[in-house]
Amino acid sequence: MIIEDEFLKFFGALPMKTRLHMHLTAAVLFSGFLLGLMPAVIHADDTSAAEKQDAAASQAEPAYQPLSKIELRRKLNRMQYDVTQNEATEPAFRNKYWDNKKAGTYRCIVCEQELFDSKTKFKSGTGWPSFYQPIDEKVVGFRNDWRLIYTRIEVHCSRCGAHLGHVFDDGPEPTGKRYCMNSASLDFVEAGKTDKNQSATGSSASKDAKQD
Ligand SMILES: [Zn+2]
Repeated sequence: MIIEDEFLKFFGALPMKTRLHMHLTAAVLFSGFLLGLMPAVIHADDTSAAEKQDAAASQAEPAYQPLSKIELRRKLNRMQYDVTQNEATEPAFRNKYWDNKKAGTYRCIVCEQELFDSKTKFKSGTGWPSFYQPIDEKVVGFRNDWRLIYTRIEVHCSRCGAHLGHVFDDGPEPTGKRYCMNSASLDFVEAGKTDKNQSATGSSASKDAKQD
């Protein structure tokens, strides 16, 4: 109460002009606050519109139907299954694509989503196919992997969840990232060659892999 009294005394002692000025300042501050809120409200509206668009787009594209365990066993060889489904790691230098220098696209072995372009593949010396970026940031997802004494960032296919490998911060320019992938998670389609799945029976990709 004493503080209130003191405040009123102080405020009352101020000249009329100063008091008016204080009122005006308060009014300006308040309207500024309201104006500041406006873009936030508009932005929130934009976000929901964008979300609606996203939802519409995903509705247009047929939703991915996950394969059953039995279907996966049929489609994939043992290494492909262990890597994509159980996060196993294939041996360095003893895998299909670590030294593949052909131009083309690397797709997910499980759902065939395009993941990496050969243009972003680089020689890492690790014995695993390494890329500095995915074909689109939307095609991969990340998870913390605590299985070693240090944390690694696990990378998986955003469409079917297949484990692909890990990403590290010691890659080359322009991203500085090293996507260290398992060949077993990937299916390479050479540039200019007919899409294997369109030309043949659909399971030719896995048959090829099984011959390795
Ligand atoms: Zn996939």
